[in-house]
Parts: sequence; C-alpha cells; structure tokens
Amino acid sequence: MNPTTTRSTCPYCGVGCGVLIDSVGSQITDVRGDPQHPANFGKLCTKGQTLHLTASPAIALQTRLLQPMQRLQRGASAQPLAWDAALDLATDRFASVIESHGPDAVGFYISGQLLTEDYYVFNKLAKGLIGTNNVDTNSRLCMSSAVAGYKLTLGADAPPACYDDVNHASCLFIVGSNAAFAHPVLFRRIEEAKKANPAMKVIVADPRRTDTAGFSDLYLPLQPGSDVMLFHGLLHIMLWEGWLDAAYIAAHTTGFDALKALAREYTPERVAQACGVPKEDLYTAAQWFAQSPATLSLYCQGLNQSSSGTAKNATLINLHLATGQIGKPGAGPFSLTGQPNAMGGREVGGLANLLSAHRDLANPQHRAEVAALWGLPSVPEKPGKSAVEMFQAAADGEIKALWIACTNPAQSMPDQATVRRALQRAEFVVVQEAYATAATCDFADLLLPATTWGEKDGTVTNSERRISRVRPAVTAPGESRHDWRIVVDFAQRLEARLRPNEATLFPYPSPEPIWNEHRESTRGRDLDITGLSYAMLEQQGPQQWPMRTGETVGQERLYEDGIFPTPDGRARFAALPFVPLAEPRESRYPFSLTTGRLRDQWHGMTRTGTLGRLFGHVAEPAVQLNPQDMVRRGLKEGDLVHVTSKRGSILVPLQGSTDIGLSQAFIAMHWGAEYLSGLSSTGTALAGVNALTTSAYCPSSKQPELKHAAVKVLKAELPWMLLAMAWLPEAGALGALQGLRELMARFPFASCVPFGRERTGVLFRAAAHDAPDTALMERIEHLLGLNTPDALRYADKRLGQRRAARLVRVGEVTQLDGFMLAGDTRAEAWLKPLLQDELAADAYGRRLLMPGAKPPVAIEAKGRQICTCFNVTDLAITGRLATCEGSDDERLATLQTSLRCGTNCGSCVPELKRLVRATPALQAA
Ligand code: SF4
Repeated sequence: MNPTTTRSTCPYCGVGCGVLIDSVGSQITDVRGDPQHPANFGKLCTKGQTLHLTASPAIALQTRLLQPMQRLQRGASAQPLAWDAALDLATDRFASVIESHGPDAVGFYISGQLLTEDYYVFNKLAKGLIGTNNVDTNSRLCMSSAVAGYKLTLGADAPPACYDDVNHASCLFIVGSNAAFAHPVLFRRIEEAKKANPAMKVIVADPRRTDTAGFSDLYLPLQPGSDVMLFHGLLHIMLWEGWLDAAYIAAHTTGFDALKALAREYTPERVAQACGVPKEDLYTAAQWFAQSPATLSLYCQGLNQSSSGTAKNATLINLHLATGQIGKPGAGPFSLTGQPNAMGGREVGGLANLLSAHRDLANPQHRAEVAALWGLPSVPEKPGKSAVEMFQAAADGEIKALWIACTNPAQSMPDQATVRRALQRAEFVVVQEAYATAATCDFADLLLPATTWGEKDGTVTNSERRISRVRPAVTAPGESRHDWRIVVDFAQRLEARLRPNEATLFPYPSPEPIWNEHRESTRGRDLDITGLSYAMLEQQGPQQWPMRTGETVGQERLYEDGIFPTPDGRARFAALPFVPLAEPRESRYPFSLTTGRLRDQWHGMTRTGTLGRLFGHVAEPAVQLNPQDMVRRGLKEGDLVHVTSKRGSILVPLQGSTDIGLSQAFIAMHWGAEYLSGLSSTGTALAGVNALTTSAYCPSSKQPELKHAAVKVLKAELPWMLLAMAWLPEAGALGALQGLRELMARFPFASCVPFGRERTGVLFRAAAHDAPDTALMERIEHLLGLNTPDALRYADKRLGQRRAARLVRVGEVTQLDGFMLAGDTRAEAWLKPLLQDELAADAYGRRLLMPGAKPPVAIEAKGRQICTCFNVTDLAITGRLATCEGSDDERLATLQTSLRCGTNCGSCVPELKRLVRATPALQAA
C-alpha cells in the first residue's frame, strides 16, 4: 500500500500545532510538524512528536475501548453490547429519568479535547432537545476564569493577542504559567524572540522556580494566591511614578477612578510583604511593564485555577488598559489555553452558563436568538450546573444520569471523595471514551467507544483564535464511532421519545453541516466566522477569528481601534480587591500544596502514559518539598510520606527541590489513581493527587482552586517495601500494567508506571505494614513473567522476604530481564540500572537475590533522561559540562554539538540552560 500523508493538528495543548500524519492502510506510521501551520511552522514538542507511537496496534489493542460495553452490576466487569442495543439502553435510561424527574436530573460533562462539531451537538442535545443547561466541560477546570476576566473587562471572551506578538514584544510578563512545560512550542518561539532581541525583558511571577522562571530577567517568587495583590501593587507604583497612559484611559476605558481609589491601599511595603517579593523588584517589574514600548502578558492555570480566578485575570488586564499596552503589535493580555479545543468549546457555548457564539444564558435576547436558530420555541433559562456543582448534585442524588465524554473526572476533578460518591450514587453513568484505561471507565454502566487522534474529522481553535481542520488519517478502529456521530445517533433516538412526529434537530450526515450551523450562529457576534468555510480552510489553511462575510483573512489581533465589544465601546476597569486563598495554610496544615504539569505528560496520561519513553524525564510520582523544610521535619529524600488535606490523604515518596519555596509542596497534576494508589486507614481506596485538592471555586467563573490546598506532610511508617521491574513483550506490557494496577488497592501504598525507550517495561512499587499473602506475591510475579521455571528465587516467609530474578541470553551476554525485591529493597540502587540500562549480568548469578550484597562489577547508573529525542541523561550532560569552559551560550552550544541534546524538539533546552548555570567547569571550580 502507498504511504499517505494527512494534515491535522496535535491533540494535546492549546498551542494547537499542525502535524503531518504518515499512514499506510489503517496504520499510522509517523508524525511530523507541519511546516505550513502558523502555530508551529514545523516544530513539535516531545509529546507531539511521539504521537504516532501512541497509535501503534499493540498499544491500541491493550488500551482502546473498541466496542460498546455494559456493566450489569457496579463493580462487575463490563460485557460487550451491540451499538443499537447500547444506544437504545442509553435512550431508555435517560428518557426515563427526564420523564420522572425533569430535564435537570441529567447532566453532561464533556471536554476541551472534543472537536468543535462534537461540542456543538452535545450543547444542542442538552440545551435544545432535553431542555437542561446541565452541560459543562473540563474547560471549567482550565479556562473559565479567563473567560470571565475577558468578559468583565474587555466585553467579550476574545484573547486580543496572537503568537506573533512575542516577536514584537519588548517586555514579556509571564505569570502563573510554566510555558516551558505546558506550551513548549510557543516557548521555543519566545526563546527565538529573545535571541533575536536580547533587550526584550522577561518577567516571570510564579511560586515555583520553574524552567520558565529560569529563563527570566526578573523572577518574582510570588506567594501562592497573592497575584491580585501583586497586580494592584504594580498599578500603585505605576500611578505614583506617573507611568500610566492617561490618554488611553480617557479615550477607551471606564471605571478608572474606582480602581485608582482601591489601588492606593496596595502600597509597595504591604505588597512586598504579602507577595514575598522584594520592593525593588516590584518597582523594576512595574517600570518594565509600563514603560516598555510593547508589553505582552502570557498566563494560564496559575491565574485561572483559583478561588479568585476572575479577579486575577481582570486585575492583570487592568494593567494593560492603564498603560495602553493592548491593541498594538507585541502588547496585550494573552491567556494560554490548556487544552487543544477549549476555545472551540467556548465558541459554541459549551459551558453551563453560556450559549452558542459567546451568548449569555442570562440574556433573554440571546436565548431567543439561539432558540430561533435551532427552530425551537425557547431554550431553558435556569443556569446549569458547573463541573463542581454537577458532581455535587450527583453525589446528593439530584442529578440521576450522567453522560461523560472524552474526559476523566475520576482523575482530574478536585475533591475526589465527592466525585467518586457522585459516580457511585448516579443511577446511570455513560462514559464515551477512546481509552478503556481511564479511571472513570470503572464507574460506567455503559461504555461507548469513541475515535481519537488520527481518526477524527472536524475543527479545533487554538489559543490565538486560529481554527484548524482536524483530518482523519486512518479509519475508526473496532466499532468505535466519532463523538459527534454518537451524540447524533443518541439524540435522534431520544427525540423520537421526547418530541415524536417532529422533524429532527440533528440532520447531520457529516461534521461539515454541523460546523456550518455553528458558523451561522456567529453572524454579527465578536467571533463572526461567516466569511470562513471548510473549503477555505482546505485552500488557505488555518484561519483566525473573526473572519466576517467578504473578508479573505482572519483578524490577527483585536482592539487595534480602541473600540471594545461593550455597550459604550469602552473597556471596563475592574476594581476587585485582593481576597485570600480559600484554604490558607495554618498550623495543622502548614504546607501550601500546588499542582502543575510535567514536561512530557499530558493531563491524566491516558495517551502519553502508554509510552515508557515519556517517563524518562520523571519516572515515578513524588511530592516535592524545599530541602530546608525536609531537614526541619527530619525527612529525607525517598521517604514515603502521608500528604494530607482536609479532604483526603495520599502516600507518596518525597523529593527535595530548591525550586519549591519554603512551606510549599508540589505534586504533578497527572498522578491519578491509575498510577498512584493505596488504602486509607479505614480501607477506602485513595485517588491520586486530587484526593487532596479543594473544590472551592471562584464565585464568578466557578473554576475550582486546583492550584492550592493546605496540607500536612508526615513520614509514613510502612516497613515492608516491594519493588518489581521487568521488560515485557510489546503485545502484553500494557495489559500487565493494567493487571498490576488492579492490585494496587491491595497495598496502603502502590505505584505502577511503564518505562523503557525501544522496549516497554513495567515498574511496580508498594509498601505495607506487613508482608502480604503469598498469593498476591505470586500474582505480581506472574504478571511480570517472573514465575517461569528458569527464574531465580528466594523466599523467607518468617521475615516476609521474597525475591525473584529472571536472566535472559541476548547475543553473547546475559542480561537481567526482570526482578522482584520484596521485604528488603536495598539492592534497588544496582539492580534497577542493571535492568533499565540493559547491562551485562553474566557475573551475577544468585547474587541477584542477595539484597545486602555488592555487585561484582561496579554499576554506574546512566542518570535521568533530560533529552527525550536523543536519550541524553543529566549525568552525561554534567559530565560533559565539567570539561567545557566558556560563556553559558558557548557551553550550551558545545553540549548540543557533542551530545545532540536539545537540537531536535527543543523541549529540554530550558533544563539544559539550567544545568549549564549550575555546573561549573572542573578547571574553573
Ligand atoms: Fe502538541 Fe507540544 Fe504543540 Fe502543544 S506544543 S500542540 S503538546 S506539539
């Protein structure tokens, strides 16, 4: 068969990079950055460029949901079902609930990873056909504060800037965003802009000294939650110093006097103390922001995921309006979207308080316009439940049927205890999903298999308002169907029940007519795309909105004329005071826990978590604390600790990091129950990092404060430890991983991750008070292939110890293929590199079973992977740096030439720069 290349987009972050997918028949064989896509011009990050590997048949067979499944009883395994039967069942159960309890007894929880067409039909299904506004999305956890902030100040949910603005900015203010990890390809553009214009000032404000902070000219180590205090403090200084743009304020804004009166209270002394930032740095930041020819702010979850999320967004926008840093090249507030199509969801009104095309549910005229468009007498007026409210309502028994699509609330929602109660109490739960491995699937009564990246057809909108076509490279595997198709198939059945003898509201044979209907809904709105079509996207490539009838290109940046989409055409200052965190740290919970991204993982890891190589940079779950806090509390690296908030407690290994401020703690957001599990003292299953987080939310945006929870950290006393690792055949590795995950809940602490670059291995770690029963040990050995007759083994039941090792012959050498250390894991330090680095093990024999023994040949671990593309480790990098002198730039260039690290996708460059700064040449030391 001839290879085919298909133009599409990356399904991960909101940068929205274009990709070229190579495929042969039904198999995706490669992926490359699309040189013609204006978001990335051919570049991809570590996640994007491994996409094709996640689509291998072996992975699909072990992880994908390929046919509808029904679970007859909660806790039992699900059984296959034909599509017609599955849709009839869903229709019957939803119709019964609606008929008995009214439309608000059902809820739809959907996703910023759906395509715009998927989103549109879900919204129409809920608000149009069923008559409930209970449709919300995981974008509520991600972008709703940005939406509320834009609307409050600028009048519409429209990011005014574009990616090219980084090339025109003379000052970049990055706040609440680790763009180096979360938006890597945009960060490459920032690095290039700085290289082209070294005079460009970069300010980074963040509680953690991230790789993004490492790139800054000025780092403001903000105390968690103090952003509004900072922004008002900067405004105070600008006012005092006369750095504001009075002409812009007078001509284009309203409400400045009230803000000015409020800002007077935010003196530099007060702000410096509350934010933990030196006063001089506040003055420098204020001056650079106000007096640079063009200042661009980039921000993300640090502002959004907050109980003051709207205020944080709005008070940052205040600074742009007060200094006239908006509506010109290189200037403006620019929120970065976390998800690939959070913007598209906002465009179609896919949130519980919105209607199509940025219309408001609360506005009667807007409701009438949408009803007319859909050919309905009305659409419901009562606000729907936002994400947190929806799961609370299900936990309280108010919502009885839930439909969850393309998202994993059993991993990603805060306060998992409530979410799990909701999923258990709901009478009927449908999960429409591509991956059977997502934690939420365990709670489904009905599982509907959906297509995913490389198979889907439609459009997405990225952070800079750019609409791209998503095209299928291969056909849907198994019986999976496109998300829009599943909704339409269900909706047509449901309308036969709810409005018989009426023409269908869902007459869509393909995604294009859905998109055309959405396009019509935007006519005359701020996001008007009536000048755009699928055909134009084919011919001219991705386009930004607005693009009105008759226009031939989209609008690059907004508000260049100083006119805003408000009744009087003026932007509005928001005089919102600083409000403390929902849950400040206190004596019983003395640490501020924040969550954030890893460089090589995406959200709940249902896709990236299938590749061992993406665990090379960060291999296992950990909580990070400042080393001074560890010393003060008698904790040491690797200790297993209880991290406890008012809502839950998890067990996790401890790691010291000077990136973390004093009295602060960090756990990556990705570690859900799929990777990190255990049992509470009462026997309840624990649920990953979001067992700890709070569902307290911003009163305006209803976005929960995922960025902060008060916690305590205490050493766990679990003397019995287990570590098991093995290389496994590709066709069985993820199946074994899944089998081991099912065992995790048998231990107070357990974690389970894949590893390996060309091959796949599985690492299982556990701890308990006492040795578990032999049957459980044998099950672990079985799953890791350590139960073969040729495996070496040792067991001492009295001491609770058990060890196994399997050796294999590879060419001329013997290698360790798998091992288990139970009860005594001292040999981890040398057995782990012996296995992972595939070193010769001929000289070892039964010594592999002696935990206290020294290896007969000294083993040097290769270190932690920094460059994923060329598999270059920290030890190789620091070793090379030790012999290399010159300026930082010269030493970086030497590294890149000699080891090739950072010369492909560039995702590791910020960390390479950090290592360059931290590692002196030996001669100079
Ligand atoms: Fe995908 Fe990376 Fe581009 Fe984001 S930056 S869209 S994850 S390739």
